[in-house]
Amino acid sequence: MNRPAPPSRGPAMTRAVALPEPRRFSALVLRLRPVGESDIMVDLFSRELGRLTGLAKGGKRSQKRFFGLLLAGHHLEVSLLPGRRDDLWLLQGARLIASHLGLRQDYRRLLCAGPVLELLLRAAAPHDPHPRALDLALMTLARLERAEDVHEMASALVIFLARLLGEMGYGLGLESCLHCGRPLAQVAAPRLSLAGGLACPQCPPTPHDRQVPPGLVKSLGSALSLEPPALGRLSLSPALLRPGLGFLSDFWRQVTGHDLPSLGLALDLLPPFPSRRKTL
Ligand SMILES: [Zn+2]
Repeated sequence: MNRPAPPSRGPAMTRAVALPEPRRFSALVLRLRPVGESDIMVDLFSRELGRLTGLAKGGKRSQKRFFGLLLAGHHLEVSLLPGRRDDLWLLQGARLIASHLGLRQDYRRLLCAGPVLELLLRAAAPHDPHPRALDLALMTLARLERAEDVHEMASALVIFLARLLGEMGYGLGLESCLHCGRPLAQVAAPRLSLAGGLACPQCPPTPHDRQVPPGLVKSLGSALSLEPPALGRLSLSPALLRPGLGFLSDFWRQVTGHDLPSLGLALDLLPPFPSRRKTL
């Protein structure tokens, strides 16, 4: 007769004391904040979980685990353990995937990369994955780090700002007037509205409208519809960059409810150079 085996305590006890395994994420470093004398709080945008925050214990002093790795704009593979708080992870280690070193070789590239990082920080909720937004950011940083002139840099930024709207659920409607539905082809003097897209001259203007050059609506439409690699070759004409960046900056400020100072700095790169921005 078979007797039931006595309950085994060994494996159960082993399970009870087993440490959680670190999880690995592919992530872009958005921001670093020092905590106390030696720790660093690292805001990341990961492919797997979207935005998350990791605490690098001893991050300021650690030569072994984090030396040269924790820099804004670095693309890392990070190992994270769940922390005691739901929204805070413990950063155990990191490996460099891409440094985007070229960004640090020209201050203008760095200024145009600023909004890429700031918007992922401000526009994405924690633990809400948007892998296509990460791909878009990485593609933009890769383009920026090779860009030789300010028009190329600003084009990359305008394309990023326009496409990120769609990725985060705030897509612009550019094919017809938001108010009356008149198709773009019949709109001679378009306006762009902070209500979310094209407005035609026949509809009453609102304080949310910006008069823009006709070519801007078409270029933004291309920025929204093209796929890589064609997207990587799209450049806006220099005359469209300032109105485009201006409108998208206002739009993103409205969407996020934040001032987004990095966008003002990027805008100041473009001629005509203002002596002082009105918002300051
Ligand atoms: Zn209309």
